Amino acid sequence: MNSKLPLPKLSNDEKQVSQDLHRHYNFTLGRFDSDADKGYLLEALAYTVRDRLMERWRLTVEKENLAKSKKVFYLSLEFLLGRSLSNAMLNLDMEESVKKSLMEFGADLEELEGEEKDAGLGNGGLGRLAACFMDSCASLQLPVMGYGIRYEYGMFHQSLREGRQVEQPDHWLRDGNPWEIERPDHVRHIKFYGHTEFYKNDNGKECARWVNTRDVLAVPFDMPIPGYQNDTVNTLRLWKAEATDEFNLQEFNEGDYADAVAEKNKAEQITMVLYPNDSSENGKELRLRQQYFLASASLQDVIADWVKENGEDFTNFAKQRCFQLNDTHPTLAVAELMRILMDDYWLEWDEAWAITTQTMAYTNHTLLPEALEKWSVRLVGELLPRLLDIIYEINARFMAEVAHRWPGDTARQRRMSIIEDGHESYVRMAYLAIVGSFSVNGVAALHSQLLVDGLFNDFYQLWPHKFNNKTNGVTPRRWLAHCNKDLATLISGSIGDKWVTDLSDIVKLEKFAEDKLFRDKWHAVKQANKVKLASLVKQKCDVDFNPEWLFDVQVKRIHEYKRQLLNILHVIHLYDKITRGDGDDVDPRCVLIGGKAAPGYVLAKLIIKLTNNVAKVVNADERVAKKLKLAFIPNYRVSSMEIICPATDLSEQISTAGKEASGTGNMKFMMNGALTIGTYDGANIEIMDAVGPEHFFLFGLRVEDIPQYRLHHSPCSIIEQDEDLARVIKLIECGHFSMFEPNIFDPILHSIRNANDPWMVAADFRSYIDAQAAAARAYQDRDSWVTSSIMNTARSGRFSSDRTISEYAKEIWKVK
Ligand SMILES: *Cc1c(COP(=O)(O)O)cnc(C)c1O
Repeated sequence: MNSKLPLPKLSNDEKQVSQDLHRHYNFTLGRFDSDADKGYLLEALAYTVRDRLMERWRLTVEKENLAKSKKVFYLSLEFLLGRSLSNAMLNLDMEESVKKSLMEFGADLEELEGEEKDAGLGNGGLGRLAACFMDSCASLQLPVMGYGIRYEYGMFHQSLREGRQVEQPDHWLRDGNPWEIERPDHVRHIKFYGHTEFYKNDNGKECARWVNTRDVLAVPFDMPIPGYQNDTVNTLRLWKAEATDEFNLQEFNEGDYADAVAEKNKAEQITMVLYPNDSSENGKELRLRQQYFLASASLQDVIADWVKENGEDFTNFAKQRCFQLNDTHPTLAVAELMRILMDDYWLEWDEAWAITTQTMAYTNHTLLPEALEKWSVRLVGELLPRLLDIIYEINARFMAEVAHRWPGDTARQRRMSIIEDGHESYVRMAYLAIVGSFSVNGVAALHSQLLVDGLFNDFYQLWPHKFNNKTNGVTPRRWLAHCNKDLATLISGSIGDKWVTDLSDIVKLEKFAEDKLFRDKWHAVKQANKVKLASLVKQKCDVDFNPEWLFDVQVKRIHEYKRQLLNILHVIHLYDKITRGDGDDVDPRCVLIGGKAAPGYVLAKLIIKLTNNVAKVVNADERVAKKLKLAFIPNYRVSSMEIICPATDLSEQISTAGKEASGTGNMKFMMNGALTIGTYDGANIEIMDAVGPEHFFLFGLRVEDIPQYRLHHSPCSIIEQDEDLARVIKLIECGHFSMFEPNIFDPILHSIRNANDPWMVAADFRSYIDAQAAAARAYQDRDSWVTSSIMNTARSGRFSSDRTISEYAKEIWKVK
């Protein structure tokens, strides 16, 4: 169908919205008004809003095709989108009319919004970054499309039993997903297994092809990504795996019905579940299948579109197309593009390689060795034999280049090889990504510096021009305009609303930082947000948070490097100080911790248990009831962060220096007027630079101090010499927080006492305790605290993902 009929322009006025809402409720969903079912009303509202995206979506696609502009594809195994409804309404500016229309149903918008499930297709920061980037690309009207996987089960739901994490499957698609459109007309075939065969084509050219494969279908589901009030709607295309018909038929005809069904399940398993590991890899074959499935489906899609438009001439491909790889997860795209260009379109190696290396760009997200992906050569050879051929050839040519540059330096060749040789050989995915890309970026200034000084130094010496930094950011639409409406209104009332699309403008708030009336209003908004969070904490944790106290918050994935443990040690210290009668100078605070642990990460799960056990003791003790509360909020996710960050006074960003690549939670808190207590790590450094050290609580060792310090690091003597720390350790050790399960926390004590503790918990304890005391004391001076709070928001302009994306667009993608 090629009708050029414009879609009807749907208006946002209340009458039209009401009509549409009724139509969807009664006709699309077949409900009666008398049913008044919240779930269906939410669905009808989603369709009503979606209708308004559809016309803009088609126009955006048409405009882009007409402009023949360069297109960028953001490849990511994770998109942590959260909820869509409120975001779409904000971006379409239809909240007011929806609110009024809902009155006819006796429904409250906020309550309905709360019913929407999060799209939890990611673990944490990396996946949320992809979601913020998609928002910024649409808001900046950039021709960027996201490619990801439509996991049937997203990030697990976390609940607690006796203080321990229990994981439950997240079947987020159960009641359907109104935000996706299936596009069976764009289905792709993905090859697995089989072998490589060489043959001569019609022109007598020696060619290779991948044969005897077992194919899986990739079916795309498109999600609209609306820009902020600009009529642009970009696309996020998520692939679902399905069995091919031919395949089933073949087995079926051989009479093996059960096997045919089993194979169907095996194919569909590929997109069944998101791997719940953050900052670590697990080497599971199914994960490798997911990675290739995404890379192959997306590249085939892009190439098919290219050929439709340009024929089989790839001369201008690299000028017109660009792929951004979100970490190494989609890095097989490098080899896959080579395969398609050579095997399907008969390009020579050198032509294909020139195109590939001018088209791929790689973002590194971590320095942690346990997170660096490598796949066994045996596994890659079995599952993706044709790709292994190509990876070997890439490496052979690369090794020749290294040998040419550094003749005789075999140690360096071994170090830099894409193939790690050993008893079992591995493909080093980060090296494949660097060799195959024209750009390699870290995600904060310190992180990018550490990459070129350390992990990737050999590659930096060879190709210094490839390396660059793109400090992360977060979208000010979701993370301020939407989640903190009262603050957004106060801000816009003072400086106008330009900040929503140009966050650098928010610096104009600075001149209100000492304005008495403004400070009072600012404080009142924060207090109202704290009341809301307190009621959530009451509901989820049955703990009473006093909104007059300092709200001290650490929410993020539970990981040793993020040092939730240090936070708990501080809480135990305060508890100890008060109960031993030395608490006069302790200022009151409510401590909130939240986050999911990878199901196989035993120590992280034990840290959750410790938090809950400490909370139980602290919250039950009358002696500390006027000073201290601790709660662990279960099932931390995007929608809970939307309530948490507007209500936070003190943001905990306390990773061991050099371990947190950037952090983005830190930016959301800053934007919402929290002060940070943090180490000199990741983007904390840039946050402190921006806001000024007088509005930031810095503590702890610096990266450059750590190697020297490690040589003589002795946690046991630190504990011996620090009475406060000794008492805290003693309390845990003697079972004060585990009366009926003595010694369960031994592994934690062991990790703190370990002379080789990579996370340096004991080393930073004293400095952290002092910074905490300074923060609590500062909170007591309300005016000066509120001034600092305003300054944090006012100087958060740099941490908009719009700024980040503008840099990607200008310096890497070269798109306007
Ligand atoms: C922002 C965000 C993160 C990242 O937090 P960090 O503190 O940077 O690790 C993780 N999970 C969710 C749900 C988020 O919104």
